[in-house]
Amino acid sequence: MSCLFCAIAAGEIPSKKVYEDELVYAFYDIDPQAPTHFLVIPKEHIPSCAAITAENASVAAHCLEVIARVTKKLGISDFRVVSNCGAQAGQSVPHLHFHVLAGRDMTWPPG
Ligand code: 5GP
Ligand code: ZN
Repeated sequence: MSCLFCAIAAGEIPSKKVYEDELVYAFYDIDPQAPTHFLVIPKEHIPSCAAITAENASVAAHCLEVIARVTKKLGISDFRVVSNCGAQAGQSVPHLHFHVLAGRDMTWPPG
């Protein structure tokens, strides 16, 4: 199975790394939608939030813990976390990812 974000997490496709540990990889989005925009992904292939189960939920929770830690380290106190799930919601890469956006005023509701 070929998956863009599995390849990025494995270092087969270059990316600008923000953070990495044995479970997750974080990297800057190639098409930033805010002054700071990075993605946090599990190294394990999970297609989207809809595929989170009791068995893999701990890695999804770890992504959120990493977001709290990395934003603190970057000195970011206000930010938005987004995970698009499914084409209608705007998901274009079918590997679970959390967008972290910061550095500008955000509107609500999102488009
Ligand atoms: P989605 O649209 O699935 O919510 O988010 C996918 C994100 O991945 C988009 O914001 C897009 O800009 C980003 N993206 C797509 N391909 C690449 C890539 O090759 N490298 C990086 N760094 N980001 C990518
Ligand atoms: Zn994948």
